[in-house]
Amino acid sequence: MILKNINLAPYTTIRIGGSVKYFCQPKSLEELRWALFFALEKSIPVFVLGKGSNTIFGDFEGLVLCMKSFQGFEVKRVKEDRFLIYAEAGVSLLRLVSLSVEESLEGFYRLVGFPATVGGAVAMNAGAFGYETSQNLKEVFFLDWEGRFQRAKSQELSFSYRSSPFPKLGVVVGALFELQRASHHVKEQYREIKEKRAAKQPINLPTCGSTFKNPKGCYAGKLLEEVGMRGYRIGDVAFSEKHANFLVNLGKGSFQDALKIISEAKLRVFERFGISLEEEVRIVESSSAYGWKV
Ligand SMILES: Cc1cc2nc3c(=O)[nH]c(=O)nc-3n(C[C@H](O)[C@H](O)[C@H](O)COP(=O)(O)OP(=O)(O)OC[C@H]3O[C@@H](n4cnc5c(N)ncnc54)[C@H](O)[C@@H]3O)c2cc1C
Repeated sequence: MILKNINLAPYTTIRIGGSVKYFCQPKSLEELRWALFFALEKSIPVFVLGKGSNTIFGDFEGLVLCMKSFQGFEVKRVKEDRFLIYAEAGVSLLRLVSLSVEESLEGFYRLVGFPATVGGAVAMNAGAFGYETSQNLKEVFFLDWEGRFQRAKSQELSFSYRSSPFPKLGVVVGALFELQRASHHVKEQYREIKEKRAAKQPINLPTCGSTFKNPKGCYAGKLLEEVGMRGYRIGDVAFSEKHANFLVNLGKGSFQDALKIISEAKLRVFERFGISLEEEVRIVESSSAYGWKV
């Protein structure tokens, strides 16, 4: 079912939006395919949405395809110390984190503390504390932009720091991971990471995580701090007092304020250090869409 003129703020963790002309939350591959054909026929851009934890919306004259209803999850033990996990795109990353902690598996427990879907984590190659989603990824299942079902082994795809070939190649519908039992105490490290995040990140405020990618050899947060952006506020949007690279919404944050503060930060960093910061967060409005028609 396609809905019209939907306010997008509730579909993001920073609670800023913008509305979209068409919105669809498909429940099956058939519905997803149908929605893609709808957009093709109308010749409008498509934005694929997970939990919106890395996304800021303005007004968007296209179709938002929300993948949250893809909730299939299967775990198969292949050996005493090895598990194959198939997760559909809308499954919360937290399920993989919890399974890793329960079964003491290497890798995913280090991604505790952010509200991604599996589709969003694959597309962003989300990572933290020395681990990235692509590391234990075996295969990705997706619909290309003509609606054809495709599967690709992860070695055939190029992943790098916060970057993957998706959604350019299409809409991720599911991913297969292979996880191995760890030889150390996962629970302890998991707790330490949780504590570190709570101490250093504004986890109780609406936020979209890191605004900018780290430039080679330095931290975006450090550069932002040095140019006075920690706590800097425009309207109700600010860089967090706790973490200078995290944008937070202090109440009625607007898309325009978010754009202004992002461009002020880029200008200051460029003027002081000659470094052009690149947005990690996806800024979506009619003139830009990450996916088909880019
Ligand atoms: C408090 C907080 C802490 C965070 N910490 C981290 C961190 O430590 N490390 C990190 O990497 N990120 C972090 N993030 C950012 C964010 O959680 C990740 O980028 C996450 O992977 C985004 O997942 P999502 O489902 O919310 O994606 P969305 O924000 O919905 O989408 C992000 C991108 O993925 C694409 N996408 C989403 N689903 C699909 C799909 N099914 N098929 C194809 N493309 C798709 C979208 O089109 C978009 O380009 C943090 C965010 C918050 C709020």
